[in-house]
Amino acid sequence: LTEVGERYTEHSSRELLRWQDRLVLVDNAYGLRFFNLADPLQQVVEVMPQLRSIHRSKLTRRSSLYRTEPVGNSNQDDFINAMVELHTDLEPVDLLLELQAIEHACYRRRDSGDKWGPRTMDLDIILFGNRRQHDSHLILPHAEMQNRRFVLMPLLEIAGDVYIPGLGSLSWLLEHAPQMRIERLPDPPGLDSI
Ligand code: AMP
Repeated sequence: LTEVGERYTEHSSRELLRWQDRLVLVDNAYGLRFFNLADPLQQVVEVMPQLRSIHRSKLTRRSSLYRTEPVGNSNQDDFINAMVELHTDLEPVDLLLELQAIEHACYRRRDSGDKWGPRTMDLDIILFGNRRQHDSHLILPHAEMQNRRFVLMPLLEIAGDVYIPGLGSLSWLLEHAPQMRIERLPDPPGLDSI
């Protein structure tokens, strides 16, 4: 942990992008995450092996990386977003625990008072097959996905025009989602294709 923390501190004077990444998990879960405070593209590279090592799961796809404007608090740098697809035997709540462990290992930081403030990384479950769930731990599909092009676009890239339980087709959601600045990036060096 110390090593990781020091490495991130060392990079923190670089351009501060945040990065948000969506995971797609098939049987299915699709998740997401955000990074900032460090070199976010490098963080994407570094987190991939951790996603690949989630037990009883197989990482099967990764979207391109997308750079987007911050949501909620515009007094921040841009974010980097992506989505992965993971086939898993885990139950959603167990997968969530795995993702939270990865977040903590990557030194997630957040100002306690500011829901929209800077973060290091955020891994969420966007979709979990056709599951619908709404309890204090987990909302599936993710509660904000229909409002977020940075979720919908990478999801379309790797999953095609899927039906989102309770919401409609992905292409329909994209047509109706609020506009935002979003730019698809070339893969950074070292990021393996899946
Ligand atoms: P955030 O850091 O904003 O993603 O919020 C994290 C909290 O949201 C966690 O404590 C989860 O219990 C809860 N949560 C609800 N639905 C989801 C979801 N689909 N994926 C990840 N976290 C979720």
